[in-house]
Amino acid sequence: MSIFNAPYFQDEAAAYAKLESIIWPHGPVCPHCGAMEKMSRLKGKATRPGLYKCYACRKQSRVTVGTVFESSHIKLHIWLQAVFLMCSSKKGISSNQLSRVLGVTVKTGWFMSQRIREAMRTGAFAPMGGPGAIVEVDETFIGKKLGAEVKSGFGHKNAVLTLVERGKGSRSFHVDGTSSADIMPILKANIAAETVIMTDEARQYNRVYQHFAAHGFTRHSAGEYVRGKTHTNTVEGFYSVFKRGMRGVYQHCSEKHLHRYVAEFDFRYNQRARLGFDDNARTDSALIGIVGKRLTYRDSSI
Ligand SMILES: [Zn+2]
Repeated sequence: MSIFNAPYFQDEAAAYAKLESIIWPHGPVCPHCGAMEKMSRLKGKATRPGLYKCYACRKQSRVTVGTVFESSHIKLHIWLQAVFLMCSSKKGISSNQLSRVLGVTVKTGWFMSQRIREAMRTGAFAPMGGPGAIVEVDETFIGKKLGAEVKSGFGHKNAVLTLVERGKGSRSFHVDGTSSADIMPILKANIAAETVIMTDEARQYNRVYQHFAAHGFTRHSAGEYVRGKTHTNTVEGFYSVFKRGMRGVYQHCSEKHLHRYVAEFDFRYNQRARLGFDDNARTDSALIGIVGKRLTYRDSSI
């Protein structure tokens, strides 16, 4: 049986019930005044599904108010299908394909996938690593900077920096460049000082040992990739999925939106099967992320 036979992928009332169970696990909360006890579901044939009235502030609302789904004309059950597709495709799904599968226009598919990426983006973080932990750090280059002249080397490309804690999650950043001045502040802000850091021999990592428990590196230039625990295979594994996704699926990602694509790959890596997430759990996790992230595009038609 297709996963999309589930009622919340087919029916608007079931879709609202599903989303409410995720966003309001302890019962409905008024998005306007925060009252919990006074929310009453509006019923009747003419009432659209999911509508509540708050008897504290007298306002009407639904669970999508204040989320990336707010004021969308797309039916909620279609949104839930889109979120599932993006959460269950290891390398992502292009907005063109999303539009074909869901039966919406290409433009709508693009707006939907941007909003879902925003839901996948996490905000403030506790430091990664800690005593006994190992964080691998590497950078990669994607696409082309706006207006940049294409030359040899990476100067015209967008740089992405990724930190991966072995056995745990990843955190990636769209960075201006890969100098020590670009990278060190990010490492210091995101990784606990007690952590062991692994990198390649690139010059920008020369001073890493001053700020962390230890710094191991391999000499790729000398053909050395692994020396016991000293390697960057984990972050390179992350990049192999990221690059195949970015090249194959998201060829036309602009610089302005790169941070959202990067967040999407981090999101799936951080809720991967090995950490106990199946496609449904990953989808629920993305749905929790829709709250408090209204995204408005001036010419949005969805
Ligand atoms: Zn209220």
